[in-house]
Amino acid sequence: MSTQDIINLTNKYVMDTYARLPVCFVRGAGSYLWDADGKKYLDWVGGIAVNALGHSHPALVETVSRQAATLMHTSNLFFNAEQARLAERLCELSFADKVFFCNSGAEANEAAAKLARRWGKENRGEECFEIITLEGSFHGRTLAMVAATGQEKVQKGFAPLPEGFRQVPFGDLSAVEKSIGKQTCAVMVEPLLGEGGVLLHPEAYLSELKKLCQEKGVLLIFDEIQTGMGRTGTLFAYEQMGVVPDVMTLAKALGGGFPIGACLASEAIGKTFHPGQHASTFGGNQLACAAARTVLGIISDANFLETVRATGNFFEAQLKELQTRTKKIQAIRRKGLMIGVDLSVPAKPVVEMALKEGLILNNPRENTLRFVPPLILKNKQVQEGIEILEDVLKE
Ligand SMILES: *Cc1c(COP(=O)(O)O)cnc(C)c1O
Repeated sequence: MSTQDIINLTNKYVMDTYARLPVCFVRGAGSYLWDADGKKYLDWVGGIAVNALGHSHPALVETVSRQAATLMHTSNLFFNAEQARLAERLCELSFADKVFFCNSGAEANEAAAKLARRWGKENRGEECFEIITLEGSFHGRTLAMVAATGQEKVQKGFAPLPEGFRQVPFGDLSAVEKSIGKQTCAVMVEPLLGEGGVLLHPEAYLSELKKLCQEKGVLLIFDEIQTGMGRTGTLFAYEQMGVVPDVMTLAKALGGGFPIGACLASEAIGKTFHPGQHASTFGGNQLACAAARTVLGIISDANFLETVRATGNFFEAQLKELQTRTKKIQAIRRKGLMIGVDLSVPAKPVVEMALKEGLILNNPRENTLRFVPPLILKNKQVQEGIEILEDVLKE
């Protein structure tokens, strides 16, 4: 099938929920993808912060093939060694003591929200159910997570939304303080706002937020769906912020491309759930957990994370040099290999032109490019992309 045939077939049979770029990839290796016409692309999107090990990583291919040939799925009616082992490793490598597995980010946040509500009702009374989130955040597309996500464009047309979510302005601690009441069970934030355009909280915001949550006796939930799994240069972003959350959600890179999500909590909070209170048919099946365990094994290695930090530093230095050669770069924001670049021009034409030149980019906001490449990206692939970006910004 030609690319045009694939586009026609998609438009005929697939619901029209995505504004897609007119390319269809058929193969990948490392940080490169190839389209149906054999054209090669450098991938700085990585399936939206999913393909942390790049494409077709040999260890992940081996694990998925072996596990698929052994056992894929048995349901949560039974015990599952792969799930237990992955949960153990996630807890050893984080603050958490208990894990719930699901299949996506939105589902991981749903689990966190349900956990926080049950915890609130059991510990602070029936009227304690509200979760405070930030304007400009992104927590997923289920109805409850649309309510949690502080963006009008994702909420419009879906009323009535579930109650119990309240947004406060980004960066405004006193707004959080004023909003916390006896109805509040949790505050949920991304350590860095990903879809918001790689926004960093003001200095000390998160540690002050943690203090506030402790004083008021409400849970702090970190949505690390995008920032987790080495993206920011440590296995989890919270490690760099001097703040330990009560609950953390993961998805995106957790399976390195195989769908899996997780909600992690401390012992005290995690023990809130009892049999029958939450469930997922697919959640944590053998195949997903084997994939995630391989990904976690590679990314949690100290040398791997050191290389991510070094590549991130190199990336930023290259961008800053590029900034001196073009007037179109207004701001650069970065943690590890999670990078936002504000442009003085609309970002969409830049994304489209870069794609034609063989560089895959994405713009979560009108004037902001976001780079979330595979974590295995090499310095020379940073340079390769910067050259293309420079050409495109000259146009
Ligand atoms: C992508 C993302 C989600 C939603 O994940 P899905 O797998 O698309 O449901 C939630 N929170 C954050 C921070 C994300 O980046």
